[in-house]
Amino acid sequence: MTLAIDGGTPVRREPFPAWPYHDDTERAALIRALEQGQWWRAGGSEVNEFEREFADFHGAPAALAVSNGTHALELALELIGLAPGEEVIVPAFTFIATSNAVARLGGVAVPVDVDIDTYCLDAARLEAVRTPRTKAVIPVHMAGQVADMAAIGDWANRHGVTIIQDAAHAHGATWEGKRLGELGSVACFSFQNGKLMTAGEGGAVLLPDEAWYEEAFVRHSCGRPIGDRVYAHRTPSSNFRLNEFSAAVLRAQLARVAEQTARREARWRELSVALSGIDGVRAQGRDARCDLNPHYMAMFTLEHEDVDRALVVEALLAEGIPAFVNYPPVYRTPAFWAGPVHGLPGVEDLAERCPASEKIGTRGIWLHHRTLLGSSEDTAQVATALAKVLAGISTRQPTGAR
Ligand SMILES: *Cc1c(COP(=O)(O)O)cnc(C)c1O
Repeated sequence: MTLAIDGGTPVRREPFPAWPYHDDTERAALIRALEQGQWWRAGGSEVNEFEREFADFHGAPAALAVSNGTHALELALELIGLAPGEEVIVPAFTFIATSNAVARLGGVAVPVDVDIDTYCLDAARLEAVRTPRTKAVIPVHMAGQVADMAAIGDWANRHGVTIIQDAAHAHGATWEGKRLGELGSVACFSFQNGKLMTAGEGGAVLLPDEAWYEEAFVRHSCGRPIGDRVYAHRTPSSNFRLNEFSAAVLRAQLARVAEQTARREARWRELSVALSGIDGVRAQGRDARCDLNPHYMAMFTLEHEDVDRALVVEALLAEGIPAFVNYPPVYRTPAFWAGPVHGLPGVEDLAERCPASEKIGTRGIWLHHRTLLGSSEDTAQVATALAKVLAGISTRQPTGAR
């Protein structure tokens, strides 16, 4: 069968469900915010209402809305008092914001390898990098798979290390029957355009109690306490406030997360089975203790070293499947080395101690979550396209010869 990149018929012509999704609920919400007459949180009600609803959805005592997910992480690190030179353990395989937030505060992001099956922080490797300067650890719930919060929690409690969850992929996820706000740690979310609920940009932090909320409020609003009218700036903090329009849209989006998650769970069950049937493909695994996984991405690795990953992605796109290469390990970006790195080994030593991140980063492909929002037939076409591409490129003439 001729591949679509070589002029053959694509497996799919019709698009997957569009993302972001909106309907009249968002339209009405925007008008409501507009006509409220105050477009920032100080005079409006949308941000306050959204915070209540988002906290309740995650079983958290409180939530603070912020401008984006990177700021959510920066604010969380500011709240725990991260000082310059202190260390924060991050997964080597994550979106760069996880380590950038640490660097922004002057902290040293210490990359640790992930588990080759779940793609989440490997708790067994934490102790090897602990130093007297270790302040916090940021497990990332990769693509919706909750990190091993039991083992990470045990280790962190034993050594007095603070946990900050990077939940930018995990809106509504659960772990051993608990929602993310019930796990006892601060959790950071993103509402960027591609995320599981979105207002284009935005973020939120789940907080353990009202005292944390008040302190977080001060630090997301130029150091001003709630209701301040006399410029009582208490800290030299930045401005991470969310606006009323975004909050109004996010309230509409939040109301759909549970139903969309159920749909993606059903589609991923089918897709992961289908992917496992393709030679040379290994799908991201599932830790059964993550009882609800919202599936921010559908991820897999190419197991045969001779397969050209960039070509597979290009060929999948031509077949009508929205595919992307995975994040590189954070230490393989110039950004990482431009931050504070004192005490860290060089890139080759880090690579040696992070074999799973190296493999997932160089051999991994992810598909947009909208590929999991359609019908079973849509999902089946994803596997059909991948099987076609892998079979097709192995017999294909080298491009140089055409
Ligand atoms: C998207 C994302 C962030 C940052 O969110 P922004 O809203 O884009 O700043 C942080 N961590 C992870 C893992 C992400 O994927």
